[in-house]
Amino acid sequence: MNPLLHFSGLPHFDQIKPEHVTPAVEHLLGESRTLLEKLQSDMALPAWDNFVAPLDDAEERLGRAWSQVSHMNSVVNTPELREVYNANLATLTAFYAELSQNEALYARYKQLQAAAEFSSLSPARKKIVENEIRDFRLGGAELPADKKARFKAIQETLSTLSSRFEENVMDTTDAFALFIEDASRLAGIPDDARQAAREAAEKEGKPGWKFTLHFPSYMPVLQYADDRKLREVLYHAYATRASEFGKPELDNTPLIREILQLRQEAAQLLGFNSYAEDSLATKMAETPAQVMDFLRDLGRRARPFAGRDMAELREAATRLGLEDMQAWDVGYVSEKLREERYAFSDQEVKQYFPEPQVLQGLFRVITTLYGVTVRKTHASVWHEDVSFYEIVDRENSLIGQFYLDLYARDKKRGGAWMDEAITRRRKAHGIETPVAYLTCNFSPPVGGKPALFTHDEVITLFHEFGHGLHHLLTRVEEYGVSGIKGVEWDAVELPSQFMENFCWEWDVLQHMTRHVDTGAPLPRTLYDKMVAAKNFQAGMQTVRQIEFSLFDMRLHCEFDPHGSQTALDLLNEVRQEVAVVFPPAYNRFPNNFTHIFAGGYAAGYYSYKWAEVLSADAYSLFEENGVLSEDAGRRFWSEILAQGGVRPALESFVAFRGREPTIDALLRHNGMVEEVSP
Ligand SMILES: [Zn+2]
Repeated sequence: MNPLLHFSGLPHFDQIKPEHVTPAVEHLLGESRTLLEKLQSDMALPAWDNFVAPLDDAEERLGRAWSQVSHMNSVVNTPELREVYNANLATLTAFYAELSQNEALYARYKQLQAAAEFSSLSPARKKIVENEIRDFRLGGAELPADKKARFKAIQETLSTLSSRFEENVMDTTDAFALFIEDASRLAGIPDDARQAAREAAEKEGKPGWKFTLHFPSYMPVLQYADDRKLREVLYHAYATRASEFGKPELDNTPLIREILQLRQEAAQLLGFNSYAEDSLATKMAETPAQVMDFLRDLGRRARPFAGRDMAELREAATRLGLEDMQAWDVGYVSEKLREERYAFSDQEVKQYFPEPQVLQGLFRVITTLYGVTVRKTHASVWHEDVSFYEIVDRENSLIGQFYLDLYARDKKRGGAWMDEAITRRRKAHGIETPVAYLTCNFSPPVGGKPALFTHDEVITLFHEFGHGLHHLLTRVEEYGVSGIKGVEWDAVELPSQFMENFCWEWDVLQHMTRHVDTGAPLPRTLYDKMVAAKNFQAGMQTVRQIEFSLFDMRLHCEFDPHGSQTALDLLNEVRQEVAVVFPPAYNRFPNNFTHIFAGGYAAGYYSYKWAEVLSADAYSLFEENGVLSEDAGRRFWSEILAQGGVRPALESFVAFRGREPTIDALLRHNGMVEEVSP
């Protein structure tokens, strides 16, 4: 039997082959089409049980099968899988585009909303019906026939273009390799990074060391290599991925313009002035102007701190003989300055964070806050590096499960993310428990030791785990608003950024650290230095996030994709307004900005900062009550994590915090509070 059509229990990753994809998708689409015909010709009044429930069932089966395919396409990509993925992605996009324009279905949802039964539905069910009606409108259901066809064609093309954008970044990242045979060029690079480079070369039967553009290989060179030319070569390759400087067929420049043109056209068909307005229709923020005001206000507050950071960096560069500091020097000089000022290095800290200890420390936080237990168990996986865990409550009943795929490798999309494998909902046999994919790109173990994580990597792990808990600890029983489903996109980073805070707490770190050689926990002196350095360059980092956010927002609201200005021109304009670091002219950041051209962050990148206001303010309740406060933890679970998309995120926040959010905690956490003189 086709493993993608198993719906009882966990996915069978060891059995899924590219040849299963098309038959599974065809089978499930066939089922869905039959159901749609039946529902449209049904004479009975639409009610939850005879109308929404069967649609949700069909949607869940399709979503579940496709999530396995799209996950494998992201983490164990092969040419065969990519081909069937793209072919079926096109089929599915066409199906969904058609579905969201289905007037008969739309009319029946409106009928249901107007019926007497509606008022007796649970809040979750009401919200699902309301969201559906909104999404039909945003999907073009109210358009005249000719515009409908055009709108649908646009959605299909956009989905293909986004997939190609992502592939081009993946392929150009994987295509680069630098083999070094002269050991003297490695001066400054930490032992474990060297060893990883040595093992990578060995694997290919080559002498010397192999460096790539994967983060665990790229980053240590930029931070530590004394050889300036070596840093420059890697930086150049990284900054020009998927651009006109490489193979034309892998150049994302034309895709950027086409994507922006099509998004604008689709938004205008719906009656919006811009794609940004379209994007905000489902978010917390109300208008593009409100978002830009928020970003610019934060930018004004951060700019003086960023300017000071930059001045200090230039001074340090001069002391190192780098008067003409370049983009490939910034990471290197920063690390030197940090070592000089705070007398420790990332590398030193890393020795205290072996993978098993980090995971144990993370799970301890979860147990303390939420009273649940995390334990390792078995499942069929897609790669030998993947592990599997379950979360159980005090009575030992299963709450949810997750896969952990931590290390960087070829054929795996970069970055870190959480995705849904199975969504919690009530079914005939009882509750279907949720399952998540947690994916990172950390340094794999080298030299027979456990993998060692930098503190930044630990923070990333906590971040993704926060998304995971949002998905896994939901108490919602209805598919469409369960976990992260139906949550406004600009509030989705609340639980994730909230989790990052714990990586700075002594009480947490003591239990999460163990020196890889001596077994000693993190010394208090080193911890104090880390805390002192916490806001090192926070100003620079904030304006960088604002640069990306403003670029994304202006690109989708003011930029004319048919005009002569390029996306890169606009980025340079934004930099003039907010940035303190100016990369070389060949830098093609837009060409690999997958968040907005291939991910879901278009006119939504500001969400990180927007949600940080919420997450910092939520965490301040823990600071007031003791950071591992059980009370606050249980309340965070019930008012925020458990709620899914049943009510607006702002309502959940107010229910948790007892008041509306303020920006104070974010500024304080980032050290951006001016001391007031008496
Ligand atoms: Zn996130």
